[in-house]
Amino acid sequence: MRDNHLHTHFSYDSDAAFQDYLESFDGEIVTTEHYDVSNPYSKQDDVPDYEAYVAEIADLNAAYGNRIKKGIEIGYYQPREADIIAYLADKDFDLKLLSVHHNGVNDYLDEEVADMDKHTIMQEYLDKLEYAIGRVEADVLAHFDYGFRLFDVSVEELKTYEEQLRRIFKKMIDHGLAFELNSKSMYLYNHEHLYVYALDLVKELGCHKYSIGSDGHKLEHFRLQFDRIQKMLQEKGIEEKEIM
Ligand SMILES: [Zn+2]
Ligand SMILES: [Zn+2]
Repeated sequence: MRDNHLHTHFSYDSDAAFQDYLESFDGEIVTTEHYDVSNPYSKQDDVPDYEAYVAEIADLNAAYGNRIKKGIEIGYYQPREADIIAYLADKDFDLKLLSVHHNGVNDYLDEEVADMDKHTIMQEYLDKLEYAIGRVEADVLAHFDYGFRLFDVSVEELKTYEEQLRRIFKKMIDHGLAFELNSKSMYLYNHEHLYVYALDLVKELGCHKYSIGSDGHKLEHFRLQFDRIQKMLQEKGIEEKEIM
């Protein structure tokens, strides 16, 4: 099973080299580099250098037996939609993740967000996520819980958003997006229980596309807890052919 959410130095917040991953694992890798416009964290547009990215992958593919695929993590931000579509138009990626990372003022991982009202933030984030699906072409809905990663949320609390979550996941399925099991959210932000709950929902709604991603920015997090997630999917009756 491939790790479908991974960053290298082509992302603004990672120093990892492709070789770090290639030398610790003998299968295929795909990196999904951050494309975050109007990023409030860095106060700029964070755009991977596509020409350099393609060139480095070509070199490494020659040396490592064609084991590297090209990917991108699209940080959707509605006021910049036209720029996002224009950037993607002439580029070729094997895998596109759709994410919502910020509201124009804060990235949802900014420290100050932790002190804001949990339910206000959750509602705002879920509204943005619901809107984002289908606005740009993508393959995977990344970390559905990103907007509330910093919060302790119980399943009971998340259930109060179930009607909207059903709409979000239905929209995800209708647009052919896979549901991502994000191991960073699950095991570094302790949201495994929320993913177990969401998994039942998406399954019930007829989802047949799943993607496992570590969201690793360094070797230490590459393929984090993949055995455990694979076992969880198996126990839920999800077949191997349904996992990207
Ligand atoms: Zn992300
Ligand atoms: Zn990421």
